[in-house]
Amino acid sequence: MTTAATPEQPTDVVARLRATFRTGRTKPVAWRTEQLRRLRELLTERGADLADALHTDLGKSSTEAYRTEIDFTVREIDHTLDHLDAWLRPESAPVPAHLGADATAWTQYDPLGVVLVIAPWNYPAQLLLAPLVGALAAGNAVVVKPSELAPATSAALAHLLPAYLDTDAVAVVEGGIPETTALLAERFDHIFYTGNGTVGRVVLRAAAEHLTPVTLELGGKSPAFVDRDADLSVVADRLARGKFLNAGQTCVAPDYVLTDPDTAAALEPLLTRAVETLYGTDPQSSAAYGRIINERHFDRLAALLDSGRIVVGGGNDRTDKYLAPTVLADVDPASPVMREEIFGPILPIVTVEGLDEAIAFINDRDKPLALYVFTESGDTRGRIAAETSSGGLGYGLPLAHLTVSDLPFGGVGESGMGNYHGRYSIETFSHRKAVLEKPLH
Ligand code: NAD
Repeated sequence: MTTAATPEQPTDVVARLRATFRTGRTKPVAWRTEQLRRLRELLTERGADLADALHTDLGKSSTEAYRTEIDFTVREIDHTLDHLDAWLRPESAPVPAHLGADATAWTQYDPLGVVLVIAPWNYPAQLLLAPLVGALAAGNAVVVKPSELAPATSAALAHLLPAYLDTDAVAVVEGGIPETTALLAERFDHIFYTGNGTVGRVVLRAAAEHLTPVTLELGGKSPAFVDRDADLSVVADRLARGKFLNAGQTCVAPDYVLTDPDTAAALEPLLTRAVETLYGTDPQSSAAYGRIINERHFDRLAALLDSGRIVVGGGNDRTDKYLAPTVLADVDPASPVMREEIFGPILPIVTVEGLDEAIAFINDRDKPLALYVFTESGDTRGRIAAETSSGGLGYGLPLAHLTVSDLPFGGVGESGMGNYHGRYSIETFSHRKAVLEKPLH
């Protein structure tokens, strides 16, 4: 009889990684870039394994898996490798006269130590690997915890990461709530959590015990304001692409449309056409269209279909976890679909009289992770930028801001705290140490 090896306990994992960190092994830039190159190799040599796992978990097409997860991470690695030396360069600071002309001051980036990355299920590879890129680039040892709700991707990552990376400095811990709870009892030097706000609060409470700094990448309802002057066929096409990617299970997907009644009426047929252009008249048979992660989320979403008049979609098949790309009109702001983040392929249209009411509508609710604005008017763009608060702001194109490596990605208020990508990951996963030097003679 064979017995499965007992998984290493969280305390032992963290102690082992901390011992590695203390040797200084993760600090040289050469070690960091070597790890990033190996991760890049993993993605190029074994990308197909990850794409298969993503198809199993979420019905993602291979094209979508590469575009939004695998190649996305490769680009993040390349950008980091290109700029890491420059980002890490110490920065000198002017010294006040009372310290004398021979005093100098600067800042240097120190790695934090052992970092914990907890990832969600919707982009289960990208949202684990992109923070890992930043944490390694900043010279840390890292524990990554994939989502148990995307089990094929979790298993693939647990198998592949140790085969490519330094196993004394990078560990994968699989599991759900008990395993994550056990991990959170340990002392980390930073915790990076992506997921929902309820668990975000659990993470923040656990981190408080050890005074561990935390990044929370959360979600919420990201509005899309459509002005009457916009080219509505372009708007409908871009809204449909942004909303129905990954069957709507994208943290920065446009959650709902805010527009005036005439524009809403004009948008309805254009959204129907946009959905048909993307997925045909039977999206269930389209290889490009994904599936809902599990039955629990399917049931939650199916219950939201009554919140308005169905313009397009509404079809569903529980055994296939299929929910059609759906647009709802005449949606009451108090209806169930407007009371929670949808996180699925349902796009409600809510009407307001104009810009003032739209701004008030947005500001009456939690600060969103993203806000999208479709308008030709510079004044309208300026007013929205000045009078609302959101993690990111997209004029004319949903989702795309998060593909710009030189922009920080993160939320504000209920949509999260802290940010990452590119050099912002170095800021997140490092301590910026203040140094002053005054010669002794
Ligand atoms: P999830 O259920 O996969 O949970 C995320 C992680 O938390 C998992 O690793 C899970 O094991 C762990 N977890 C769950 N319950 C826990 C508990 N009680 N204690 C400790 N750990 C626990 O994912 P989810 O939360 O359903 O993800 C969807 C949410 O994430 C949405 O709100 C979405 O908007 C948000 N999101 C945000 C971003 C971003 O970058 N800001 C990206 C993706 C998703």
